[in-house]
Amino acid sequence: MFTKARIKLTGWYLLVFLMISTTFSVVFYVRTASVIDAEFERVQQRLMLEEDNMFPGMRQQAPRFQILPEDIEHAKQQIVYELLLINVALSSIIVIAGYILSGQTLKPIENAMEEQKRFIADAAHELRTPITALKTATEVNLMDEELQDVAREVLTDNLADIKGLESLTNNLLELARHDTNHLPMEDVNLKEILNEAIEKVSPLAKQKNIQINQNAFDQGLSVCAHSESLMRMVVILLDNAIKYSSDQSTIDVFVSGTKQTVSISVSDHGIGISPEHLPNIFQRFYRADQSRSRSKAGGFGLGLSVADEIARKHNGSIHVESVEGQGSTFTITLPRKS
Ligand code: ADP
Repeated sequence: MFTKARIKLTGWYLLVFLMISTTFSVVFYVRTASVIDAEFERVQQRLMLEEDNMFPGMRQQAPRFQILPEDIEHAKQQIVYELLLINVALSSIIVIAGYILSGQTLKPIENAMEEQKRFIADAAHELRTPITALKTATEVNLMDEELQDVAREVLTDNLADIKGLESLTNNLLELARHDTNHLPMEDVNLKEILNEAIEKVSPLAKQKNIQINQNAFDQGLSVCAHSESLMRMVVILLDNAIKYSSDQSTIDVFVSGTKQTVSISVSDHGIGISPEHLPNIFQRFYRADQSRSRSKAGGFGLGLSVADEIARKHNGSIHVESVEGQGSTFTITLPRKS
């Protein structure tokens, strides 16, 4: 990210320099050319005057001094060539100096961002232990058959909130990790990844009586990816498809491949997303339906940002097609070779 910014900044330095130096060079050339022309006129007239003042005998013997228009043209061309040479040399210096300078300029920002990411990762990591403890304690308490109805209701709500917090800390940790780390890639069989991902979300799907259909595709299809992250990405899409679908609906998973790319689509018949929200859903903490209670459906609006970040790390992309009230299709496209 910072290498791109550094190159961009260097480009800007070069652009500013080129604008100044081109203007200077043009002005310099125009001024010099007019001085040369004027001097040429003056010398020409002086020579003619001297020739007129000579005795006829001397005129034949005296060597003829003359400046030709070709000489003037040659001089002008020489100036242009010299100016070009100077500009090229200076531009090269500016590129090197600009790259070093932009590195120095961006260093404090890079450090601050690193610090911030580390802080988020540390905070999320520290939060995981108490959240797990709270979750286990609540789940154990809920097993008590003598629990009063009111208490059970409160504990069930608490458990949903704790699960939300757990997913938030996991997502924050993952975002911080993906921002900094390079993912080791390997050849991954898509069939295995999809099976595992579907298995992970099946308890949620069962709760809502939702059927997940895996449509037929070449079983041997593989992609160069980080298997854990690829699965996380598919789980996020499946998890959302379940969350935003009504009970007893169906979700379809499609896989297709070309020589260069592989696409995985998760299609649901849920609530869909309105066109005004569509461009923003991949932003961090963006939730299309703010009024929806976090404990009932949805989390903190980080799932799709994590998925998007993972896709980018694989030099791929995610796009969505959705019709409000009819459903959404999210498609991950990844290059087959990294
Ligand atoms: P959240 O944890 O809130 O689901 P996400 O980043 O996963 O966060 O999704 C961002 C928003 O995009 C959600 O709040 C939801 O409004 C919308 N969204 C994502 N997936 C779907 C889907 N399959 N159907 C309808 N809306 C969706």
